[in-house]
Amino acid sequence: MQPGGHHILVIEDEQPIRRFLMASLSNEGYRISEAASGEEGLRMASSQPPDLVILDLGLPDLDGHDVLKRLREWYTSPIIILSARDQETQKIKALDGGADDYVTKPFGIGELLARMRTAMRHAQRSGPEETTITVGDIRVDRSARLVRRKGEEVHLTPLEYKLLVTLARHAGKVLTHRFLLREVWGPQNSQENHYLRVFVASLRRKLEDDPARPRYILTEQGVGYRFAAD
Ligand code: CA
Repeated sequence: MQPGGHHILVIEDEQPIRRFLMASLSNEGYRISEAASGEEGLRMASSQPPDLVILDLGLPDLDGHDVLKRLREWYTSPIIILSARDQETQKIKALDGGADDYVTKPFGIGELLARMRTAMRHAQRSGPEETTITVGDIRVDRSARLVRRKGEEVHLTPLEYKLLVTLARHAGKVLTHRFLLREVWGPQNSQENHYLRVFVASLRRKLEDDPARPRYILTEQGVGYRFAAD
């Protein structure tokens, strides 16, 4: 997909970072708007809704989590957090609050661009659900409820299958423990992190060449899991 013309809103109070993003993103063909405060960002987002928002958490007027919350009352396109706050609790709060991804400062522009592309690919896909999901050697056929690895059928229990489909449907995106538990086991089990560990381990044994160095089901330490996008 060509990024050509996609409109990105950067909400960030540090001018050197805004300037750097402006230069690197325009270089990739994106159109950029920039806001130096939370209120300004909210105003700009509503007057001209962008295709993606890059949001800092440490803003002079509002906390970024509050900006995220107010944006998510109406804004459905991707929001990527770009923050110096690297604690797991901050990441979990932002992801559960509706952020699509979280990049910590200092950041590499290549990584940020890759996360942006993944987030926008998801947003475009959010129409009718695809029945077949293919990543690398793994193919999930949801209409036949069949999983193949290198062409061979893999036998999964119903919960393993549900967990795999949840991960694969959001490929590329970090899913928090709480989100996965709620989706797969239901809201009453949202604290039972050990369920997840056990089922992720058994999925890895069935799907990964080397379960100790997973290629598909990646651990986001202390936060959750991410299914590799490609
Ligand atoms: Ca800041």
